[in-house]
Amino acid sequence: MIKNFKKVLVANRGEIAIRIFRACHELGIRTVGVYSKEDKYSLFRSKADESYLIGENKGPIEAYLSMEEIIDIAKRKNVDAIHPGYGFLSENHEFAKMCEENGITFIGPSYESMQKIGDKINSKKIAKQIKVPVIPGVDYPIEDISKAKQICSQIGYPVILKASNGGGGRGMRIIYKEEDLELEFDRALSEAEKAFGKAVIFIEKYLDNPKHIEVQILGDKYGNIVHLYERDCSVQRRHQKIIEYAPAFSVSQQIKNKIYEDALRLAKQSGYYNAGTVEFLVDRQGNYYFIEMNPRIQVEHTVTEMVTGIDIVQSQILIAQGYSLDSDKINIKSQEDIKVNGYSIQCRITTEDPKNNFMPDTGKINLYRTGSGFGIRLDGGNGFTGVHITPYYDSLLVKTISWDRSFDGAIRKSLRSISELRIRGVKTNVGFLINVLNHPVFKSGNFHTNFLDQTPELFD
Ligand code: ADP
Repeated sequence: MIKNFKKVLVANRGEIAIRIFRACHELGIRTVGVYSKEDKYSLFRSKADESYLIGENKGPIEAYLSMEEIIDIAKRKNVDAIHPGYGFLSENHEFAKMCEENGITFIGPSYESMQKIGDKINSKKIAKQIKVPVIPGVDYPIEDISKAKQICSQIGYPVILKASNGGGGRGMRIIYKEEDLELEFDRALSEAEKAFGKAVIFIEKYLDNPKHIEVQILGDKYGNIVHLYERDCSVQRRHQKIIEYAPAFSVSQQIKNKIYEDALRLAKQSGYYNAGTVEFLVDRQGNYYFIEMNPRIQVEHTVTEMVTGIDIVQSQILIAQGYSLDSDKINIKSQEDIKVNGYSIQCRITTEDPKNNFMPDTGKINLYRTGSGFGIRLDGGNGFTGVHITPYYDSLLVKTISWDRSFDGAIRKSLRSISELRIRGVKTNVGFLINVLNHPVFKSGNFHTNFLDQTPELFD
């Protein structure tokens, strides 16, 4: 059954809100924005057809977590569907359920499959059941230190403690020797409780410098599901992605084929539909392991769009309306229909100071000039001359996404675009990104998740 949307509310801010408004407008759908009082003058607000203040008496982050208020606005303004973007409410299955109970379509998977696959422990269990390789460790919560000690000596140090519903590179602790376990275990528990609302942690082997490879999937509500190939997200700082690209040309096709197959099996097993990402680590011996599934759009979806030509956000909206993958609107008749063409690199330009441990910087941007041109896509957040960068939200300013027929060409386009950027008034990570893009190891594709942390000259 098709439910054509007339109005979509975006429960998010910044660049991803703008990205979703654009997809809606291209589909002829009216957009509704919500904003916190701190975002009163933010750019994204003016890109929506109408926008409303939320969380007036709440903090800047809590405002965007105001479930009842957002649903109430959606109902009063005759909104058909809500897109949650990434972060905030995007992985909250209770919110997805609340939307459905109020007759509003949640643009994402069903709340049942979100609940099943959304937390790291559960998804690891499902993976194990269907024989998708997982990292040695446990797939149940560890509550006391004596159990933790026993598990760690079984799997062998180093180990990693993880919050089951952690995200964004946070909620993880690496332990190299038993003496450190006790202290770190207590810290991990209380951190998980504070940051993610649940003191649930589990333990796995800490792999020595793997690659982070993830598969984009897209499924409709009728059981059809395809993958849109993979992204290499191994350029990380403290487990947070900084540069992502597609395809992951330095991983063998044989491994990649297995990863696609397992990603699809996992998605099918949890009755998954809409867009999602299945994340894997690949070690130096070529073994691969599932780590988690993200039931939402990701920051780096752009590079997949550039190499496949498929608009993932539009597809999400069409799938939520009830269109099948092979419908004329989405027009993916089969897996064989999807081809990878060329190379795409995304750089996250942030208002952070690389010379000061990447401390977020704030203040007025006195000059903001970007570099576009052939092969460059800019997904902007809040950058314009005169804007005040506040300390309340993440420091992503704009994503520079390049496309070229060769990886080397894509690097050159990224470098050209980033060198044209002029941002005055706040510090940015531009110099650091240029160092990474110019580094021979980056160019070779042959690097792993500790590449940045182990290459001090990049920070000069
Ligand atoms: P998040 O949900 O915070 O993004 P992930 O589970 O996706 O966390 O992991 C983020 C990154 O942390 C990975 O890309 C990898 O660099 C590192 N990581 C996670 N688990 C392990 C592990 N067992 N061994 C080595 N590195 C890991």
